[in-house]
Amino acid sequence: MKIAIVGGGISGLATAFYIKQSHPEVQITLFEKEEKLGGKMMTQEVDGFLFEEGSNGFLSNKPDTLDFVKESGAEYLLLRSSDDARVRFIYKNALCKLPESPGAFLKTPLLSLFGKLRVAAEILVPAKEDDSDETLQSFGYRRVGKEMTNAFLDPMVAGIFASAPDKISVNSAFPAVVKLEKEYGGLFKGMLRKKKKEAGPGGVLMSFKGGVGAFIDSLANSLDVEIKTNMPVKYIEKIEDKYLLHVENFEEEFDKVILSTPAYESAKILNKIEPEFSVLLHDIEYSPISVVGLGYSRLNHDLKGFGLLTTSSSKKDILGVLWDSSIFTGRAPEGKKSLRVMIGGQRNPDLALKSDEELKQIAIQGVKETMGVKELPDTVYIKRWERGIPNYRLGHLERMDKLFKKLKKYDGLYLSSNAYFGVGLNDCVRNSKEVASEVLKNLKS
Ligand SMILES: Cc1cc2nc3c(=O)[nH]c(=O)nc-3n(C[C@H](O)[C@H](O)[C@H](O)COP(=O)(O)OP(=O)(O)OC[C@H]3O[C@@H](n4cnc5c(N)ncnc54)[C@H](O)[C@@H]3O)c2cc1C
Repeated sequence: MKIAIVGGGISGLATAFYIKQSHPEVQITLFEKEEKLGGKMMTQEVDGFLFEEGSNGFLSNKPDTLDFVKESGAEYLLLRSSDDARVRFIYKNALCKLPESPGAFLKTPLLSLFGKLRVAAEILVPAKEDDSDETLQSFGYRRVGKEMTNAFLDPMVAGIFASAPDKISVNSAFPAVVKLEKEYGGLFKGMLRKKKKEAGPGGVLMSFKGGVGAFIDSLANSLDVEIKTNMPVKYIEKIEDKYLLHVENFEEEFDKVILSTPAYESAKILNKIEPEFSVLLHDIEYSPISVVGLGYSRLNHDLKGFGLLTTSSSKKDILGVLWDSSIFTGRAPEGKKSLRVMIGGQRNPDLALKSDEELKQIAIQGVKETMGVKELPDTVYIKRWERGIPNYRLGHLERMDKLFKKLKKYDGLYLSSNAYFGVGLNDCVRNSKEVASEVLKNLKS
């Protein structure tokens, strides 16, 4: 049995791992377009600073990534975020602590008295009667009011998806929240009932010593898989019950193919098999985002916290700032500090694609305006993602239903990436595990 996995990000690597875990005899070849594995999990070392190009880490309140790390033998790399990083900030008109208790919520300047009363009234808002999709904005306005949506949900969705409340489907991006309304009649009702049932510690942000790239290296070394980097797959053809993979200079036949590539790449790869795949896959939109890493020898700010997210109403050019050297130890050389500034997203897509010099200036101005940082960085590292994070638009689940029904017709062909059912590392690992078990179910001995 020969299996090809296309794409060496976390989804492709986790799928390979879970297939091999229960069927070590299966022969897997992994094709990666770039020189290095990792995709959006890549760490760059510059002047002793470690800058993450994409993901920073994962939350431990879902077991998926944590289990994967342990099962793959990389537990020794795990790094817990500092306690200071529990504190988060929102910049609306000024920098405000994100309230973490009902008492703090009552005192927060982020909402007016009316805004707070409107949030409290959520308990009286009847549940939506049908299952139709709606934007996060429509969901938020309906349940917790306009002020809460604009002051809390707007920065939160920028931080997770680089999206905006009116541009993203709540059913696809926040299924757990929709479930609370559906099962318990409302968010407060649901949270109170769930709290009673599941009293336990909340999640802690976890990462890796040496950055997320260290975990990718560990996976690459431990996986018994043939890894072919610098090998972009161009397209595949179905020939009887096999798949013929066309790579740059050669072709190779496989029994099963798993595409762990971004949707727009999978669209090209599958076009020859069935053009409608391409139409459905091209329809999955991506948000551009740029990450500007700033390293300082001297910075007077104490950086006590995780960082900040801005609201759209603040009209700032940055989406947020991660106080990197305070979140995880070892991200900056001894005595130095580092920040990562996020720019673009659905809120300001054009800004993400500016020149390096412009992005640097936007970042410097952004930390000055939101945090009062006057010092200039000694080190700057810029990573531009033209298509960074999939944006699950209204109707995403319906389109996925259509896509995956069509896929079922092709025995031995699978899709596994962040484009479909969740963008967080925990989602990617969970989906990869599910795809691996689907592949194994259909293994002919
Ligand atoms: C700026 C940013 C910050 C983020 N922060 C977090 C965070 O803190 N926590 C979190 O949980 N998530 C975060 N995410 C999301 C998370 O990193 C991604 O959802 C996840 O890493 C995606 O993994 P993937 O394997 O599905 O896709 P990718 O990482 O995109 O991997 C796809 C791989 O396919 C390869 N490829 C493409 N075309 C071909 C081809 N034709 N042939 C062969 N190979 C090909 C690519 O080179 C790539 O390696 C962040 C994302 C970004 C962009």
